[in-house]
Amino acid sequence: MSIQENIARVREQIAAAAKEVGRDPAEITLVGASKMNDAAACREAIAAGIDALGENRVQEMLGKLDEHAYDGAPLHFIGHLQRNKVRQVVGTVALIQSVGSEELLAEIEKQAAKLEMIQDILLEVNIGEEAAKSGFSPDEVFAAAERASGCPHIRVRGLMTIPPVETENGQNFSNFEKVCCLYVDINQKMYDNKLDILSMGMSGDFADAVRAGATMVRVGSAIFGARAYPAANETGRLEA
Ligand SMILES: *Cc1c(COP(=O)(O)O)cnc(C)c1O
Repeated sequence: MSIQENIARVREQIAAAAKEVGRDPAEITLVGASKMNDAAACREAIAAGIDALGENRVQEMLGKLDEHAYDGAPLHFIGHLQRNKVRQVVGTVALIQSVGSEELLAEIEKQAAKLEMIQDILLEVNIGEEAAKSGFSPDEVFAAAERASGCPHIRVRGLMTIPPVETENGQNFSNFEKVCCLYVDINQKMYDNKLDILSMGMSGDFADAVRAGATMVRVGSAIFGARAYPAANETGRLEA
């Protein structure tokens, strides 16, 4: 299957899941998670109409930027971001999806202020409260949203989550619902319903995420094929 055919199939599956719950498929953004795939693969996805591409390693992203891999589509950063790499990401990407600590918020604010720009971000929720994962716990995310709203060079667009790895299909549906509830609540109480992005769902579970309210899904292997690295690093978060 080509990247183009894969994207068409994923779009059909998104549309089917959206219709099941009475949603308009057009309100769901498809982000291609292009880590470990080369510039040619990125270009192929863009030619096939992917809405955005997401990278999770700064070095790899900068290399592919040099090759003009992302020309024609918005670029998102979706991986674990170290503070000392914030400078290379702020102003380079349209959206930083993975902001999971107050330290990171502060560093992004500082760098965006230097560039005199406003950086769009998502707050990452660690819905499984897993020790090895970054992100705000559900209890912390309100305070984080409040802190972010006081940063003049940051614009919060919504929430993002990476739930625990499923051992059975459908297991994460309730986690997706929980993050959706947080999103709706924060949106109503703090943002006048102006937030517009709820990023959740990957190759194995994007249909469930759409049924639970995702407005953005991040799909890698179902578009680009299996990645060739050990399972422990499946999301690449350990070595970003
Ligand atoms: C790799 C990755 C994805 C996509 O994972 P697949 O299972 O290949 O679809 C989504 N989100 C993040 C943050 C990732 O690192």
